[in-house]
This record gives sequence, structure tokens and C-alpha cells, in this order.
Amino acid sequence: MAEKFLARHTTATLRALLDGKKPIVALIPIGSTEPHGPHLGLGTDVVISAAACVKACELLDKKGPLTAVIAPAIPYGVTDCATGFAGAVSVPAAVLTAYAAAACDGLLAFGIRHVCLVNNHLEPAHDAAIRAVIAGREGKVSVACPLTKKWARTLSPEFKSGACHAGQYETSIMMAAAPEMVDESMRGVLPPVPISLSKKLSEGVGTFLDMGMELAYAGDPAAASVEEGAQLIHRLADMVIGEIREALGLPDKTG
Ligand SMILES: [Zn+2]
Repeated sequence: MAEKFLARHTTATLRALLDGKKPIVALIPIGSTEPHGPHLGLGTDVVISAAACVKACELLDKKGPLTAVIAPAIPYGVTDCATGFAGAVSVPAAVLTAYAAAACDGLLAFGIRHVCLVNNHLEPAHDAAIRAVIAGREGKVSVACPLTKKWARTLSPEFKSGACHAGQYETSIMMAAAPEMVDESMRGVLPPVPISLSKKLSEGVGTFLDMGMELAYAGDPAAASVEEGAQLIHRLADMVIGEIREALGLPDKTG
């Protein structure tokens, strides 16, 4: 199996991969640096994206006409919702779009066939800034993000309720993907916070603090489990493969 992480390749080993039989697809994990409750690390979203990318690479390797590599991540995003908390670092939407677009163009320039931007920071302004990269790059760049309805409905009941920030959904994925970033003693004693971010945002309430999320989480972290996390990572990987296949006009067949 070829090395999966682009950054671990040399220019020579990458050239050899590009000159092989299968087209190469690059996956860029995208997240944000922002608070995720008292129990998860600030880098949670990019770790979730990276876990989905690793699984998607594995599934693509087993079958299908493509080889995937995981390109270096983009760990800063638009995170105005988290204003007021230590650890929230927001970049302007136009800066994010331009930076992500330049990274895609750079990858495409030396022979990468397609770039999939794998995003798990679900703030609408951030999602829009990432999707804006596709304009003028149709077929060359795709976005895989669980805000898309057809993927959202494959995820957990808590995710679908909109209480999807550092709750059972994200905490389960982190327990499976990066347990060292989960404070277990804290997680176990956190009470459920049944606040729907999607509902609050649609009502014009724009920050976690105004929504009543004083501890920067919603949902039920104490109910999270490694098993649920592993299942969710698999579904996110199916989403990544589904978006790539659709963008390339390949038959819809996920792992
Ligand atoms: Zn998150």
C-alpha cells in the first residue's frame, strides 16, 4: 500500500505515485480551532475530518479505480459562533476561501486529478466559505460536509437534532479517533444540554454564549461511546467517497 500522507512523501515517491495506473485524489481535512466544551480539545473538528479521510483512503484502497492521499490539513476556520471563549481563532471567510482555493490549485497543478475538501466544522459561514472554492473548479474540487442533507440523514439522532457541538456525536468520534484529546473524568459528569444550534442559528442567535451554551457544548457527551464513534467515522468516510464519485461522474458505490 502506498504512503497515504502526502507530507510524508518525497517529491520522487510522489512522482512515482502520480505516474502509476490509478488517478490520484487528494483529501484535505478541514476544521477550526475553537472551544469544544470542557472535555474536548480545541482541534476537534480537524481531527474528525482527518479520521474520515484515513478511513476513506482505506476503503478506496480495497476497491475502485482511485487512489487517495491525505494532504496537509487546514486547521483554522470561520468561527464567529465561539466568540468570547479562549481558544477561538476565526479567520475571515474570504481569506479562508482564497487560501483553500490556492491549496487546491497547487495540488492540481502537478497532476492530482481531484481534490476533496473534507470539512467537519459546521458553522454555516465556514461551510459557505469552503463551498465557494468549487466555483470555476467543477469536477476538480468537491466538498464533503455532513451539513449536506443526504449525508446528515445517515448520521446519529443527536446530530440530526442540531445539538451537534461537542455532544454525543463529536465526543464519540473523538473517543474512537483521538482518545488523548478527550478528558474522560470531565466528560462523564457533564449534564445534557439540549440546545439545537441549527434552530438557534435560523432564529438569528449567532453565538454559543447567546444560545445559552456557557460551557461551549450542546448535546450529551456523557452518552458517547467508542463504538458509536467508529460507526460514525465509517459513515463520514462513505460521505467522502460518495462526493468524490459524484464529482467525477463515477457510479454511486460507497464502501
Ligand atoms: Zn466541532
